Amino acid sequence: MQVALVTVGDELLAGDTVNTNAAWLGQQLHERGATVARTIVIPDEVATIQADVAALSERYDAVIVTGGVGPTHDDVTMDAVASAFDRELTEHADAVAYFQRHDTYSAADLTTGTTHLPAGARLLENPRGVAPGAAVNNVYVLPGVPDEMKGMFETVADEFTGEQVYTEEVSVDAPESALIDTIAALQEAYDVTVGSYPGDRVRVKIQHSDADTVRAAADWFRDRVTAVSRE
Ligand code: ATP
Ligand code: MG
Repeated sequence: MQVALVTVGDELLAGDTVNTNAAWLGQQLHERGATVARTIVIPDEVATIQADVAALSERYDAVIVTGGVGPTHDDVTMDAVASAFDRELTEHADAVAYFQRHDTYSAADLTTGTTHLPAGARLLENPRGVAPGAAVNNVYVLPGVPDEMKGMFETVADEFTGEQVYTEEVSVDAPESALIDTIAALQEAYDVTVGSYPGDRVRVKIQHSDADTVRAAADWFRDRVTAVSRE
């Protein structure tokens, strides 16, 4: 399953807020075997959100949008997603019922921003907050607040599937350039996906849908990198 992530927020673009939602969702989806094909960061602008969501929804199996959901003035995501599918943003019977069931919410919580969803959308409950999310066709609209986003994602997580990918990581104390030939040889010997991430040490990530192949490839690689390792 090919998924696109759309993180909405002027504060993300300005660097005021670190995009932890994208990182967390990326990990969750990857663990479930779904592929995150795109992550984009866009401003709180109706026309931009509408155009990007419409295009990504055509191109990928699913789109997850976070941010700009709720009653505040800068929350325009629901409006934009409704427009992307030529739907109205209307008072949604499930959203009204949802709030009536949750008697911890005051009348002040029942604003347009919380009870109005794109027409025909499926309401997504917010186990850790107030504003509900929505699923419209293959687009899932989740809150921006990281904790609320996680709680809501968990209610739909099973809808994101794919082939299980197994991973082994080998940490090597060597310059990345010293690994070039060995990584090339590893890819010749095994049909695995290899990522190389330099830092204090180089993290070499080996992945495949077959657990035995990954284990064999990682053992093969470990045996050979000891020669170039500083240890
Ligand atoms: P609210 O209903 O509280 O307004 P919201 O769904 O509209 O929530 P935003 O207004 O976009 O969400 O953001 C709420 C908070 O979550 C802000 O502090 C924002 O910085 C943070 N946030 C939004 N998007 C992200 C993200 N991608 N990664 C990390 N934090 C984020
Ligand atoms: Mg907001």
